[in-house]
Amino acid sequence: MLWNKVGIVAVALSVLLGCENQASENPMLEIHGRTMGTFYGVKVVGDFPGGQAALQSEVDALLKHYNDEISTYDPNSSLSKFNQSTSLKPFPVSQDMADIVISAVRTGERTHGVLDVTVGPLVNLWGFGPDKRPIKTPTDQQIAAARKRVGIDRLHVEVSADHATLRKDVPELYVDLSTVGEGFGADKVAEFLESKGVHNYLVEIAGASRSRGLNAKGDPWKLAIQKPTDEIEDVQAIVRPDGRAVSTSGSYRNYFKIDGKRYSHIIDPVTGKPITHDLVSATVIASTALEADGLDTALMVMGPEKALAFAQENNLAVYLVSKTDTGFKATYSDAFKPYLVKPSS
Ligand code: FAD
Repeated sequence: MLWNKVGIVAVALSVLLGCENQASENPMLEIHGRTMGTFYGVKVVGDFPGGQAALQSEVDALLKHYNDEISTYDPNSSLSKFNQSTSLKPFPVSQDMADIVISAVRTGERTHGVLDVTVGPLVNLWGFGPDKRPIKTPTDQQIAAARKRVGIDRLHVEVSADHATLRKDVPELYVDLSTVGEGFGADKVAEFLESKGVHNYLVEIAGASRSRGLNAKGDPWKLAIQKPTDEIEDVQAIVRPDGRAVSTSGSYRNYFKIDGKRYSHIIDPVTGKPITHDLVSATVIASTALEADGLDTALMVMGPEKALAFAQENNLAVYLVSKTDTGFKATYSDAFKPYLVKPSS
């Protein structure tokens, strides 16, 4: 279990903001737990059928189900079975798995290949997957060998009325859905709450969140974008998502150092290496957390200038924080402005 993630602090900060609610009149149920190698939190304002205990056990079971489907950390998950298979024949998967892969592939195409969920062999080679951290940085030969297994165009999803399949063009293709798993999970918990008649809620899984309606105080939900440093927990900006999903990706918590140099978990599929530019955090507001969670990683690969240009061209709500010699610099797209309550601190 990794504890040093961007989203963990994001959960803590929104809980902090939620403290405003303590003098509230409306009852609120609140649960927390662990999933996908990180933490989740759910707040429900009003009733939930069966109360707090039912909310906890049903959300835990739901998230366990999706973890069992898409985790690359569990060798027995459905995705791991696909990764272990060297067959080039269609491999039956659930509709949910097909949906998440279709979305990730679309985001990959939309971002000209910088989001690539087949980049797993490189993620693992650099020590950011289930494999151990390297003691030395990988050699060019190791990187070239891993890159032979990578390529989003080698992964195919087929969906028909009654079944869905994944298919690979090379036997060693390996799919890593870590970049979108938390967003997908947040969407699924939100759908579950809606199906139970809950319309005032906040769901957070690490840096991915979904919210709707009002908090216990009767105000719209507000979320904190964390200041991108692993030294202090502080608020960079505050947003009011108004029912939309928010997801943040950062390079400042999940990294390792060799010989004084920092290596981030965000891999540029073109170089096969961790990113080296100054963009340290990207936040996206979109209609689903699945979409936002894929886009935030893609923007992290692009770097500050390309990411902002991409956001403006595509009318995406994006907030970027770059590291400077003296601290941090925040920029955001025009589409992000309406969501900002507190631009920066
Ligand atoms: P994000 O920015 O959302 O994603 C970055 C991650 O995406 C990288 O860590 C890498 O895996 C991948 N990536 C890097 N570059 C690219 C790229 N160019 N294109 C596409 N993908 C890229 N961690 C554990 O330590 N233990 C566990 O048991 C565990 N179980 C998990 C189960 C599930 C179902 C999932 C989805 C994840 C699990 N994780 C686990 C991983 C972990 O919790 C995070 O998902 C992961 O560290 C990245 O999340 P993030 O929000 O920090 O970064």
